[in-house]
Amino acid sequence: EGAIRFENVRFGYDPAREILKGVSFEVPPGRSVAIVGPSGAGKSTISRLLFRFYDVKGGRITIDGQDIAAVTQESVRAAIGIVPQDTVLFNDTIAYNIRYGRTDAGDADVQRAAELAQIAGFIRQLPEGFEAMVGERGLKLSGGEKQRVAIARTILKAPPILVLDEATSALDTHTEQEIQSALDLVSKNRTTLTIAHRLSTIVNADEILVLKAGEIVERGSHRELLANA
Ligand code: ADP
Ligand code: ADP
Repeated sequence: EGAIRFENVRFGYDPAREILKGVSFEVPPGRSVAIVGPSGAGKSTISRLLFRFYDVKGGRITIDGQDIAAVTQESVRAAIGIVPQDTVLFNDTIAYNIRYGRTDAGDADVQRAAELAQIAGFIRQLPEGFEAMVGERGLKLSGGEKQRVAIARTILKAPPILVLDEATSALDTHTEQEIQSALDLVSKNRTTLTIAHRLSTIVNADEILVLKAGEIVERGSHRELLANA
């Protein structure tokens, strides 16, 4: 469940300039694929197309064999959880932010949000206990704490597909390592597409694609790519 396929995908934001020039790859269910490449190569465009923010100009994208152009944007997004580069939070409690997108949350979800805040590491951030913190409004959170909220939100949603878009790139090295281990936990056994800017953060990916100017120019495991470097 959650298989992603890009088949010869072509796309440009305007007709005069093609950004993706026939991109093909596959993420088997439960596997993890990472895309690396220089800024402007088209990495984020790939995740925007997967979310159906735009429609492809050629080729197709399927999830579990279903062409995403044939289903609603809502149902595509319901299958995907994203941990973005910078998480923007509502000026509300952590619990509310973890339940983001779930206005129908009942008491059980609220309780689960509190547990997830603990799993995502807030209990160590707040000596007097996480329950007070998840219920407090208007918190000033650090970049690492915001990413913890995004991770907890994703666990609560439990989507079959996870997209990590440079999820640790805005963090300092120490925080990056902590968040990375939380991400490794979330992405375990979940179909994961990672947009990365460094090879070091995607050591565990099953396959790494190197994207340059809208084309995949190299692919392989972390070890294979290092050997060819
Ligand atoms: P990457 O994530 O690899 O840095 P992007 O996918 O963000 O690259 O961008 C690829 C190219 O598409 C860049 O040249 C960028 O300027 C261009 N681009 C991105 N978003 C838009 C947009 N909304 N309209 C026009 N061009 C865009
Ligand atoms: P739900 O399916 O739980 O109702 P949404 O439809 O609001 O949630 O969002 C689906 C997924 O898309 C969520 O994981 C959310 O973080 C992500 N998402 C929503 N808006 C954006 C955006 N502008 N850019 C990137 N990701 C987004």
